[in-house]
Amino acid sequence: MKIAKNTVVSVNYHASDAQNNLIEQSSEPMVYLHGGYYNTLPKIEEALDGNETGYSTTLQVEPEDAFGEYDSELVKIEPVERLPQPLEVGMQFEGSPDDDGEESVIFTVTEVADGKAVLDGNHPLAGIALRFELLVTEVRAASEEEVAHGHVHGAHGHHHHHDEDEGDAGDHFRSQPLN
Ligand SMILES: [Zn+2]
Repeated sequence: MKIAKNTVVSVNYHASDAQNNLIEQSSEPMVYLHGGYYNTLPKIEEALDGNETGYSTTLQVEPEDAFGEYDSELVKIEPVERLPQPLEVGMQFEGSPDDDGEESVIFTVTEVADGKAVLDGNHPLAGIALRFELLVTEVRAASEEEVAHGHVHGAHGHHHHHDEDEGDAGDHFRSQPLN
């Protein structure tokens, strides 16, 4: 079966940066609903579209097509007493980039020194060109329910407890921080 809109694609992947440093390697295939549902990067869908099980490819994705350019305005220095305690490098929490802003981003604590903390609101992979090695391991037709929900169900996919739709479990390379 060819990869087309409303097929469910299983793909083994290996992600590295432009210097070939490993960023993430799949232990299980990524399984996503193909066809513009934003369950994976659009560039990955584009590269796989029309291909079949066994297809492999390598593609480079620029930051603007992945996790965005690095934005230095999203880096803030705050007194530690204004932040949740105990504070450690690597902690993440949600906050607003502006004092009056409504849009919230996930900040990562990147440094703590002299009573101040550096908070970085960029995605950990912002500004990084990514290289993906992809191998398609399975292609199947999506169920009507999967198409209606816009994501994959079943093994490796989205699990429902009730009818309620929690959304982005298959959202692998888009919003989920790696590591
Ligand atoms: Zn669902």
